[in-house]
Amino acid sequence: MNPSEQSKVLVSACLLGQRVRYDGRDSGHPDLLRRWQAEGRVVPLCPEVAGGLPTPRPPAEIPGGQGGPVLDGEAQVLTVLGEDVSEAFLKGAHQALALVRRHGIRVAVLKSGSPSCGNLLTYDGSFSGTKVPGEGVTAALLRREGVKVFSELQLVQAQACLEA
Ligand code: SF4
Repeated sequence: MNPSEQSKVLVSACLLGQRVRYDGRDSGHPDLLRRWQAEGRVVPLCPEVAGGLPTPRPPAEIPGGQGGPVLDGEAQVLTVLGEDVSEAFLKGAHQALALVRRHGIRVAVLKSGSPSCGNLLTYDGSFSGTKVPGEGVTAALLRREGVKVFSELQLVQAQACLEA
């Protein structure tokens, strides 16, 4: 199959070596993601930067750790300073959704634990390092759209889903 005809994957930009995290760092660059990039399959996005937030930026968490209620206007994303950054998170999530629709994407690999990208666990809003079962705002929106969302800890499963 021509690589350009292969299914594309939305990937958190910080997992591609881009220094877009809140602390100005990246989150590594796994070999499989490098390979997918070389094949032209990767659509990169940092939802928080796409939503207009600077890098570095104050860490943010969702009280309760659930992105779905943020999508529904029932919860907020707050920085450690107490600033409501929900609007930027929502804007970034909808940019991810637009990319998914434009490229016909059905698989995403997003950074674990993030209030935007986390797919299984997020921080609970106490800024104490406590994780709870939950998903970030972008992960929640993409899952509602039917995208299979994996993390960098589930690359084997993501690849299997992509090739199914
Ligand atoms: Fe950006 Fe998501 Fe990475 Fe956070 S986890 S830096 S929002 S790509």
